[in-house]
Amino acid sequence: MDALSNLHSEIKACTQCSLRQGCTQVVPGEGNPEAGVVFFAEAPGAVEDERGRPLIGRSGTYFRIELARAGIKENEVYLSNIVRCRPPENRDPLPEEIESCWTWTLKTLQVIRPKVIVPMGRPALVTLSQKLGFHKKVGQNPIMKLAGIPFFVEEKHFFVFPIFHPAFAIRRSSLKPEFRAHLMYLAKAIPDWMRR
Ligand code: URA
Repeated sequence: MDALSNLHSEIKACTQCSLRQGCTQVVPGEGNPEAGVVFFAEAPGAVEDERGRPLIGRSGTYFRIELARAGIKENEVYLSNIVRCRPPENRDPLPEEIESCWTWTLKTLQVIRPKVIVPMGRPALVTLSQKLGFHKKVGQNPIMKLAGIPFFVEEKHFFVFPIFHPAFAIRRSSLKPEFRAHLMYLAKAIPDWMRR
């Protein structure tokens, strides 16, 4: 088995936090083991929990449609969440749940070694920024200010491109054009960023 499949098996067997007791299954990420771009959303919802795949419910489907529309192929990127078990009633993941699942987020990044990390929404952005040491670039700024603005993390040699969480864009539908524009910007930037 390749390193990513091995990691997915380990993730599926995880019982590190209490979320596992209340969900149907752990939802690992999915996509290309050699992806240059990795997206992190927040946590599985009901459909993801039932079917064991990330971002396939309402907001995930909207995201995948916009991704394809921007010309980014699902099988060329990798999609995951910062928390891999569905929180009860879809509540926000607790800091200790995010912390517990960080093991898997870090291992995922170590296996794939992407050039571009795309946090979707502020919780994913804050977690990744604190853990990977680029929190100064994020500060207290709301996602409204940060989405769509890329930056390069010199010490780690990757780009970060925060975008809205797709559920947020669905809720505030006036943000949909911006959500689309951000993915189109990403699609255009990818070839350049891969060369860096
Ligand atoms: N589905 C996911 O997999 N993640 C989210 O954050 C929302 C829906």
